[in-house]
Order: sequence, then C-alpha cells, then structure tokens
Amino acid sequence: MINLQNLTIKEVHEHLKNKDFSSSEITKAYLENIKIKDPDIKAYISITEESALLQASKVDEKIASNASIGLLEGVPCSIKDNIMIKGERCTAASKFLENYRAIYDATVIEKLKDCGSVFLGKTNLDEFAMGGSCEKSGFFPTRNPHDLERVPGGSSGGSAASVAGDLCVYSLGSDTGGSVRQPAAFCGVVGLKPTYGTVSRYGLIAFASSLDQIGPMARTVEDCEIVFDAIKGADKKDSTSTDSVFSHERKDKIRIGVPKEYFGEGLNEEVKQAINNVISVLGKDGVEIVDITLPHTEYALACYYIIAPSEASANLARFDGLRYGKQGEIGNVGSINDLYLENRTNGFGAEVRKRIMLGTYTLSSGYYDAYYKKALKVRTLVRKDFENAFKDVDFIIGPTHPSLPFKIGEMEDDPLAMYLADIYTVSVNLAGLPGISIPCGKSKNNLPIGIQVIAPAFQERALFEIGKMIENKLR
Ligand code: GLN
Repeated sequence: MINLQNLTIKEVHEHLKNKDFSSSEITKAYLENIKIKDPDIKAYISITEESALLQASKVDEKIASNASIGLLEGVPCSIKDNIMIKGERCTAASKFLENYRAIYDATVIEKLKDCGSVFLGKTNLDEFAMGGSCEKSGFFPTRNPHDLERVPGGSSGGSAASVAGDLCVYSLGSDTGGSVRQPAAFCGVVGLKPTYGTVSRYGLIAFASSLDQIGPMARTVEDCEIVFDAIKGADKKDSTSTDSVFSHERKDKIRIGVPKEYFGEGLNEEVKQAINNVISVLGKDGVEIVDITLPHTEYALACYYIIAPSEASANLARFDGLRYGKQGEIGNVGSINDLYLENRTNGFGAEVRKRIMLGTYTLSSGYYDAYYKKALKVRTLVRKDFENAFKDVDFIIGPTHPSLPFKIGEMEDDPLAMYLADIYTVSVNLAGLPGISIPCGKSKNNLPIGIQVIAPAFQERALFEIGKMIENKLR
C-alpha cells in the first residue's frame, strides 16, 4: 500500500525514479482513494480513469526502458472543470454544459501533456467560477477535507479539496478575484495566482477575461513553482500572454510591506494572530517590516463587482442554448427571444443570472459611464496604489481571507457578506499582479489559515523564494 498522505510532486518523482512504485500503481492508488473518500468530499465532477491509466502505463514503459523522466511525468493531478481536456467533459459546473465535451486542449493542458502528466479527473467549482465557496456549483457542493461540515472555499474548491484530501498530487485552478488563493487558504494548501498574461487563457472557459488567470494548487511552494514553470509562457492563441518572467536577484535585505487596510474591521482574530505571527518571525529573521498604505482598497471590491460581471455578461452571451447545452424547441416557445429566455433561464443558476443581469445593466447605455467607465478609472487607482507601494518594498503581505472556512449554508442569506470577504484578493487581479497563498497555521478548532504574499508583476521567482522562506520558518 502506498501512503498517499501529503505526497509532493518532488517525492512522487523520486519514488518513480527509484522504482519504489510505478506510475500505474500510484495512479491506481489515487483512483482507489477517490472511490473511498470522494463520496464524502465531492471534489470531482468527473473521473478520467481510462486515459489516466493509459498515460501512466506510457510513463512506466519509459521508466522500464531506463529513459530519464521529467518532474511531472507520471504524476497524477486534477484539473478544474472550466479548463478543457480534449474529448473529456467540461461543464464549468453548469447545467448548461452538463454534457459538453471539449473539442480541443487548453494550452495549459497541452503543456502538461507534453510533460507527461496524468489527469485523474475534473474538479468542482462555483458555476462558471462565480463564487467563493463551491456551494454555487450547478451540481453539488464540495466539502472541506479538514471539516466536512465546512466549505472548501471557491471557486476552485474542488481543486483545493482534491489536493488537501490526498485525491491527487496537485491541481490547476483559475483565479479571477481570488479563486485559487482563497480555497488554498481554506484547505491548507499553496495556491498561486500568476501575473496576468504569464499563463495562457486559451481553453479556459472565460469568466472575466481581463482578470482571469490559471494557477497551480499544491502542497508546497516548490511544487507550485514546478507546475507554474510547466504551464507558463507566451501563446499565439492568447494575445494577452507573454514570456516575461524575470529572474530574481537576491537582495541583502528584504523589505516587506504590511498594508494597514488589510488588518481592519471584519478580520477574524485567529487569522490576524496567525498572520502577525509570520510577520514577527520574518522580522526576527532580518526582514525589514514596513507599514504601508493601499488607500483605494476600500473601493476595490465595488470596482471588481462591476468589472467582473460586465465582462461575464459579454462572455456568457454565447450560451444561447443553440450551440451548447439544453435546447428548447422554437416551435414550442414562439419567438427567438422566448427561446433564448427559456434556454438561459433553465441553463444558468441564480448566481450566474444575477451577475449577467448586473453586468448587462452596468454596460447599458446611460449607465456605462456611471458604472463601467468609472470602475475602470478606479481600477487604475488600485493599480497605482501597488506601484507606489512597490517603490518602497519588495513584497506585500497580509491575510488571504478575513475569515475561517465557514459552514456549508451559513452564508446563504447574506450574499453581500460573501462578496465583501473577497477584499484581500480582488485588488491583486485588478492590478494584474502575482499573489500566493501559503498555509500559516491553524485555528483552535483545527481549520487552516492562509497568508498571502503579493509581488510586483512578473516577479514570480521572488515570490517563490520568499514563499519557501516562510514555509521553512513555520516548519
Ligand atoms: N469570489 C470571487 C467571485 O465570486 C472570485 C471568483 C474567481 O476568482 N473566479 O467573483
């Protein structure tokens, strides 16, 4: 029996090389664990057993012939179900796409296939990645492996839970306003939101195209770095993608900014303590801690909740029920408008409909200037806050999320509170910066807490370095 608990990419790679177990054996072990544990956790929407075993056996042949293997080769992973794997279902957790099969690979999938990755299956999310708890999936909520009564966070909750529950070694999520970092924090794993443009969005079902980035979720910073290196890079099929990830010059003295706006009202006391603990440990270790201000933080949420729904309303216009998903029949419903109305009403869940309506409103003539255009101006101010701060410090540090993982259903009556809780993550997307969430302790009732580190654009290398330093200090 292979002990799957907390296995990292690096460890699996070493075991494969040493022939302690084969890729087929570890793949089967994960598939077995999924069978046992996933009926409770519900991280996966679909399991791609056949292709996983096929890919694993290919790697095993390679190992048997004594050829050398890459770090990700034969290592089982999971993929958020808004990223397309050719021939497999890709639902975005929406009834609209319940039976849709991807007809091409996302660029990140192509790259992982080139690395010889084994895909175990597709993981649950809030429908079309709109949400922060995985409760808004069109199919079922995912549960937090640390406490099955609680949410895993979202929208990449299935990805986070699949890593935390030992149902895969690593996962890909997507982050528009926190959807990689927040579930990583809730599930006690590491999650990276890369700089906008470093990872191709081709083959990711779009939510808000100027904010969306695909990012790795794994057990360690090092594992996230390995996956990031595999998926990054310019892509002809995404004109916003670029090759510029800078190498990092080690500094004698690291300066870390602590924004006062990230420690205000609404921050859970235990989360605050855990973050302050890391700050004081770093301070004792020669890192210079600097109080900074990001004065437009309080407007970032309103700005995000105008820009993201506006872009979503445009992106989701393609779902008319004629090309994808459930179809009404024109003969039965009358006009083409009636048909659209019926298809879109039945296909989308309430949260998605709400955002489409909000976005359509903020883009409509007469309101465009007052809302959308104004939000774009605020976005520039948010970006400038970071630019100013980074003149003085190398990194910015703070909580990933203001609260601990909450109980399933607990926030149902208070959708606004759920939006407000995105306070520490959305600015990073608005500014296009890289941010990483790293586990930094547990609450009294044993729930994970995450610390977020933000770096200037394209400074992922530096982020990994400081991330590893934090991990080592907390060990
Ligand atoms: N929780 C945020 C939202 O609901 C972020 C979602 C995301 O990053 N995909 O929009």
